[in-house]
Amino acid sequence: MLQIKCPCCGPRDHDEFRYAGDASVPRPAQNDPDFERWYRYVFVRDNPAGIHREYWQHVMGCRQWLIVERNTVNHKILSVNFSRGALA
Ligand SMILES: [Zn+2]
Repeated sequence: MLQIKCPCCGPRDHDEFRYAGDASVPRPAQNDPDFERWYRYVFVRDNPAGIHREYWQHVMGCRQWLIVERNTVNHKILSVNFSRGALA
């Protein structure tokens, strides 16, 4: 089972977290009227084999938003940091 080391709560099973998407895609400005840019932000994703930055929320714990750097080939977690509130 995958374990994520929450900076607040320590190591926890990934069942306590909710995956929330790719953390490497920059969010358009709130008042950006460009439909294509919003479409790509919401729906278009790469599916990389290798290191990937992901948003996770510790929903069954401290509820913090985290950025997890994970290798999608072997599921090894390289780092876990607090998100700066890009989604929250
Ligand atoms: Zn936590």
